[in-house]
This record gives sequence, C-alpha cells and structure tokens, in this order.
Amino acid sequence: MNETSTPVIIVGAGLCGLSAAYHLEAAGFKGYTMLERQPAAGGLASTDSGGGFSFDRCIHLLFTRDQYLLNLLGGGREGGGLKKFSRRSYCYTAGTYTGFPYQQHNYGLPLRVILGNILGLVRARLGAGAKNAKNYEEWIYAAFGSGIAENCMLPYSRRLWAWDLKDMSFDWAEGHMPVPTVRDTVLGALLPRKKRFGQTSEFWYPRTGGIGSLATSLLEKIPAAKVSLNASVKAVNGPAREVIMADGRRLRYETLISTMPLPELIKLLGADVPEPLRVRAAGLKYNTVHTVNLGLEGRLSGLAGSAHWIYFLDDAAVFHRLGFPCNFSKWLAPEGCCSIQAEISESERLPRNKETLIADTLRDLVKTGILGEKDILPASEGGRVRYAKLSTYAPAYVICDHARAETVAALKEFLGKYDIETRGRFGEWEYLNMDRVIMRGKDAAEAAMRKNI
Ligand SMILES: Cc1cc2nc3c(=O)[nH]c(=O)nc-3n(C[C@H](O)[C@H](O)[C@H](O)COP(=O)(O)OP(=O)(O)OC[C@H]3O[C@@H](n4cnc5c(N)ncnc54)[C@H](O)[C@@H]3O)c2cc1C
Repeated sequence: MNETSTPVIIVGAGLCGLSAAYHLEAAGFKGYTMLERQPAAGGLASTDSGGGFSFDRCIHLLFTRDQYLLNLLGGGREGGGLKKFSRRSYCYTAGTYTGFPYQQHNYGLPLRVILGNILGLVRARLGAGAKNAKNYEEWIYAAFGSGIAENCMLPYSRRLWAWDLKDMSFDWAEGHMPVPTVRDTVLGALLPRKKRFGQTSEFWYPRTGGIGSLATSLLEKIPAAKVSLNASVKAVNGPAREVIMADGRRLRYETLISTMPLPELIKLLGADVPEPLRVRAAGLKYNTVHTVNLGLEGRLSGLAGSAHWIYFLDDAAVFHRLGFPCNFSKWLAPEGCCSIQAEISESERLPRNKETLIADTLRDLVKTGILGEKDILPASEGGRVRYAKLSTYAPAYVICDHARAETVAALKEFLGKYDIETRGRFGEWEYLNMDRVIMRGKDAAEAAMRKNI
C-alpha cells in the first residue's frame, strides 16, 4: 500500500488553503502538504484568459483596510502590486441610474418613488425596529422601510440570492448592508451626494494579473514541493486519520485543514458520519452564479466608461450586476478594447436557461443603455463583440437559511473528533469574502500548530 504520513494536510489551494500553508511556512512549521484537485491554485478567486481578454471568476475586488492583509498581498504602499480605488458604483431601477448605495442616493428618481422611500423609512424608524424580525425579508422592511424595501432591497435580494427571503436568516446582513439615517436618505434625495457609504467605499485591485494574482502572491511564498496540483481527495477515513486520493494514495494526517465545500467533505467521510448529520449536511443550501464575459472593441461610454460596477435592482435586465474590468485594470483587455462582466444567479427556486443567457445579456445591455444596438453584433459583422463566454460557478453564494448556523456548528463539532479543521467560504458555509477567508486560513494554521508542536 502506498501510504505516507504528514502532520498537517491542507485540502484546497484557494485563498483559504494558501493562507493556511503560508502561515505554517512563515512560522517555520515544515510538516505540511497541500492538495488541490484543479491544475492551478486560486479556487474561486482565479483569473481565466480567452481571446486576449482576462476575466475573474465573478466580479472580485478586495475590500479591506487591514494593514496586515494588505502587506501580505502586496498593497498598502505606493507602487505595490495592488492599486487603491475609490468606488464608482451605481444602481439602475425605475429606468434611472442613481448612485450606490441606493438608500442614500435617491437623487434623480421619480418623485413618487422618493416620497415612498422617505416616508417608509420614517415609519420604520418610528416602529419597533429590527429586533422583532423573524427572517431576512422582515429585517429588510424594519431596517429600510417599505419604500426602499420594495423598490430596491427586496427585488435585488431576490435576484442575487435566487431564494425566498422569508426562508433566510439576517444575522449575516447587519454588517454587509449600509442602513441609512433619515437625514442621509433625505439629503441624498435632494442632492447628487459625493459622500461614500459602507464597507465597499474603497477597494484594492491588482495592477496586473487580475484577482488571481492574490493567490499567486501567496503561492510564491510556499515551496513548490509542498503543493500538489491535480490532486483530488476522493475519501477521508476519519477514525484512521487518513486521506485517500483519487490515484489511490493514502495520506495519514494529525490535523486535516479542509477548505472544500462542507457537504462534500461530509460525503467523503461516508458512513463514519451519523445519518442525521449526513442529512443535515446534504440540506445546506447554495446558489449558482453565471457570468457572461464579453470582450469588446473600443471603449465604453457614459457611466459604463468609468463605473467599477452597477447593480440592476428590478427585472429590467437578466443580470443583477455588471462589472467593468478595464475600469480597474487595463491589463484585463487588449489595447483598444474593453470588457463587461455580467452576473446572473440561479437556484432550484429560480431556474435559468443557460442556452440563452449570452443573448439575453446582450439584449439587456441595449435595453439599459450600456451598449447600442449595433455594438452587440459580432465584430466580424460590423459590431463590437470580439469575445463572449458563459461561465458557471456553484456553489457561489451559500444561502443563510434558518438551519444553516446550527447545522454548521454541529458539523464542526463532529469534525473536531477526527482532528479536522474546516475553513473558508464553503468549508464553513458562511458568507465570507477573500479578506476573511485569508484570515480563517491563518486561524486554521495556528490551530494546527497548537496541536502539532
Ligand atoms: C459572485 C461572487 C463574487 C464575489 N466577489 C467577491 C469580492 O468582490 N470580494 C471578495 O473579497 N470576495 C468575493 N467573493 C468571495 C471569494 O470568491 C471567496 O471568499 C474566496 O475565493 C473563497 O476562497 P476559499 O479558499 O474559501 O474557497 P475556494 O476558492 O472554493 O477554494 C477551495 C479549493 O478547494 C479545492 N477542492 C475542493 N474539493 C477538493 C477535493 N476533493 N480535493 C482537492 N481539492 C479540492 C477547490 O478546487 C478549490 O480550489 C465572491 C464570490 C462570488 C461567488
């Protein structure tokens, strides 16, 4: 039998796994190895190229003010690998573009919409607040009032999550969504305000290489011998503390850091997981995100010529968000060209027809005034489209339904018995962005070292 033993095995070379490996290495801990089933590291935070254009796997920007992270990833200083941006982002609803966040930028909307938004917010502030909310939909009404809820938050959230908001919890939402004061909403209705609200008001993006270069910058700090690519884990024997590879190798561990999706890990543990826990793990919910990646000749004009991203709140477009990659890195398109990335969510509750998503996106880019009718023709037919590709990612967003928190806690406790640390966006089945998964990887490395030193 082909069996080896390594104190710490890391499964997955996405940002979380890479961070775990980096932090073990940086602490001088050499007894680890990292296994990644894909031919390259980076996971969801990777950048793919085609037709001379490069696209991240969904719109990815680094929102952090944490100096430790910025130093680690090459930002935080002039001339570093990361460039800092002040957000230029907009919302499209009721046939109008307004600033983002919608709730603080009503200027330009029809008067009846503005009045409904302000009165709804005032009524919500006079009410009981969010403390009685039982689900995400109720929390939205309590936090934003009926006008902003019905004109923006509810239609957008239904399109983003592709889920019934009554079946979702809201504990995760409080830090993510800027809740306005009445003063800011009123001022934002009277004037085109410059003030930026919320956690995303500033962001960082790599000067070259796309978002995938964050993973590259970590990978470069890890000895190549520690990283196995095309190395798929096909089973885990918890009682024997053993990982079984697709090629038949058996690797013994003392601590297993897993960043693979939690339901998949539970499946790989097989019959060693009690049936009720297996059922709960299989019931963890997620959605799928499709991106339509378009490479175009020439430059974009109007808002799209400078916007970083735009939200499409109501059903006017098939996509709920557009990103404009060349407005944060020229490296992503050939000279004289530009690109657009559209995001479209799908789930068992909101099915999509993959066959028509590219055509639907092109049609709605015209409908919303981003492109002209002629622009959406192929370049070979006198239009501007040089490249069009649909990519699909699942799981993309984990759905925070009412069972999620307790299920994840129970699974983590169970995995502890087999010395498994499950971390990352899908390892913890939590709404975690890149900055936070990198810190969870650090945390996993520290937990592993406490056990193995
Ligand atoms: C639509 C969308 C937009 C986003 N935008 C942003 C953004 O703007 N800013 C931001 O900070 N974050 C954003 N994120 C979140 C970000 O992508 C994630 O937080 C991060 O990439 C997750 O990293 P991870 O290492 O936890 O997981 P992953 O990247 O999924 O890495 C897990 C790795 O495990 C490997 N693996 C799985 N199973 C096995 C197996 N059996 N054997 C071996 N290897 C295995 C996988 O191949 C993968 O490489 C976005 C996410 C989505 C879906």
